[in-house]
Amino acid sequence: FAKERGKNTFQFYTHAMTQSACQHLMLETQLRRALERDEFELAYQPVVEPATGRVERVEALLRWHNQELGDVPPATFIPLAEETGVIKAIDAWVLRQACRQLKRWHDQGFTGLRVAVNLSGQALVHQNLADRVAALLEETGVEARFVELELTEGVLMRNGSPPLESLKRLKELGLTLAIDDFGTSHSSLSDLRRFHLDTLKIDRSFIADLPGDSDSAAIVRALVGLAGNMRMAVVAVGVETAEQFAFLREFDCGLLQGYLLSTPLHPDEVAALLKRGPLALPGLRPEHEEPR
Ligand code: C2E
Ligand code: MG
Ligand code: MG
Repeated sequence: FAKERGKNTFQFYTHAMTQSACQHLMLETQLRRALERDEFELAYQPVVEPATGRVERVEALLRWHNQELGDVPPATFIPLAEETGVIKAIDAWVLRQACRQLKRWHDQGFTGLRVAVNLSGQALVHQNLADRVAALLEETGVEARFVELELTEGVLMRNGSPPLESLKRLKELGLTLAIDDFGTSHSSLSDLRRFHLDTLKIDRSFIADLPGDSDSAAIVRALVGLAGNMRMAVVAVGVETAEQFAFLREFDCGLLQGYLLSTPLHPDEVAALLKRGPLALPGLRPEHEEPR
């Protein structure tokens, strides 16, 4: 009986492994074709000033719709794209798409709007990233100061050999840089200065337990204070409740992003939102409708 069970366990195990290997291969095959088949799309999530309800910028977030696989979340395909090198082409596509869209919004009269774009670590080590970005800005007619590049803390710290030169050149062009998922990896505070970062994005995991969890509350307050002292902008990501919103506004967190304010939107929805003016926020304008 034991032997049989052992055998079954083994069979189950190999079956599961084969299945996941198959899925992996399938995903990879589809991913390699996704760009040429035009299966990607960008959604844009508003980032809002809590004091005024103004949408200061939008973050471009990649969406992949595949016939066979359906909608695959970035958390699944981005790591695979990095593993296979497909990310290089994706990064370039995302950046061009986001700049083109920003130009459209500017042309529609939303002239102050900025866009934040997530970049992979591989984009950074690319020799002529700054040259290519400069050419792209020229091509799309977007001013560099309206574009922020988001790099995760993990990417900046990877390999212990940060692409300082690349970052410096991007800054010289006039782009701003953000450190994303801050608090999830091991950067030291001096890295914030060393990399000439403009914006600190506090990871969602710290916001999730606000305001009840005193550790999270202390960390978020410290990070907001730190960013202020270093003259960095600060964005709290993952604001979902009115309580979190009230806490973050009280402690002067400069910018907020989360489902409470808005989910990621289609470009037309962004335009419609901007047209309506500042967002109605909880506790800010009680006579207005509930936030979306
Ligand atoms: P991220 O850059 O930290 O983006 C924020 C993620 O949090 C997004 O997930 C967003 O939809 C989600 N989010 C925002 N507000 C809330 C909230 O209130 N509650 C919850 N539960 N989630 C919220 P998404 O779009 O699934 O993207 C996941 C990650 O994939 C991104 O994290 C980013 O690291 C990566 N990614 C997305 N688009 C791109 C891209 O174009 N290029 C690269 N290289 N990476 C990308
Ligand atoms: Mg991001
Ligand atoms: Mg994140």
